[in-house]
Amino acid sequence: MNIAELIAASRKIVIKIGSNTLAKPDGTVNTDFMDEFAAQCADLIAKSKQVVVVSSGAQVAGMSTLNRWTRKKDIHYRQALCAIGQVELMHQWRTSFFKQGLHIGQLLLTKEDFNDSYRTLNMRNTLFTLVDEGVIPVINENDSICVEEIRIGDNDNLSALTAELWAADLLILCSDIDGVYTANPKEEPDAELIQIVTDIHDLKNRISIGSANAFGTGGMATKLQAAEKVTGCGIPMILTNGGTPRILEKLAFGSAAATLFCV
Ligand code: GLU
Repeated sequence: MNIAELIAASRKIVIKIGSNTLAKPDGTVNTDFMDEFAAQCADLIAKSKQVVVVSSGAQVAGMSTLNRWTRKKDIHYRQALCAIGQVELMHQWRTSFFKQGLHIGQLLLTKEDFNDSYRTLNMRNTLFTLVDEGVIPVINENDSICVEEIRIGDNDNLSALTAELWAADLLILCSDIDGVYTANPKEEPDAELIQIVTDIHDLKNRISIGSANAFGTGGMATKLQAAEKVTGCGIPMILTNGGTPRILEKLAFGSAAATLFCV
């Protein structure tokens, strides 16, 4: 099955937006992107699809709101920035989705929530109720109550856990790279985009994973972890570049550069 067919066949779609996609090069939140993204989600919903959004960007939004602490790496400052930025982020998401006549609901989750069956059930019930009522859940890690040791730490893995919890048909990771390349395309111009991955273990042996980028937390390693998690449950995953204009539409037409992970 190719990407266009997969999207056509998927009803429940989790879409993760990375910090690099949400932030402009100057570090401020890209509200034009958010408006365009919300409009594309509205199109998917008009086609009877259900959408759950996992949004990073609290820390980036905190920095651009406050305009200080940029260089403070201390965990407490980063948590404080997330507490500030999460409000800003949700304000922007609410504004963008409201233009499409859609309401949003916020879920802030931690690793412990996913390890506890009672909390998992409650999370699942909330998710299903929001979606059934036509509200878009927007999920992030509850950064202010997690210290390093107990953090999920990256929204790639959080979105995979969410896809599993909601029994999604498809997970789409909108990153700042078109997909998985045979080598780092920023360093090696001959690097080729791998369009379909059916064996992640084999892929890891073939490519050099490299490190994380400026704003995002994960880098390629966490994207592969997310792919391993969801494909292990039979949920395919698409990795694509959220910065490509009208990316969800292009994916649906089969005209976007992307890597499809499936089993
Ligand atoms: N939860 C963090 C934030 O919103 C980001 C995690 C990630 O970038 O994956 O800033």
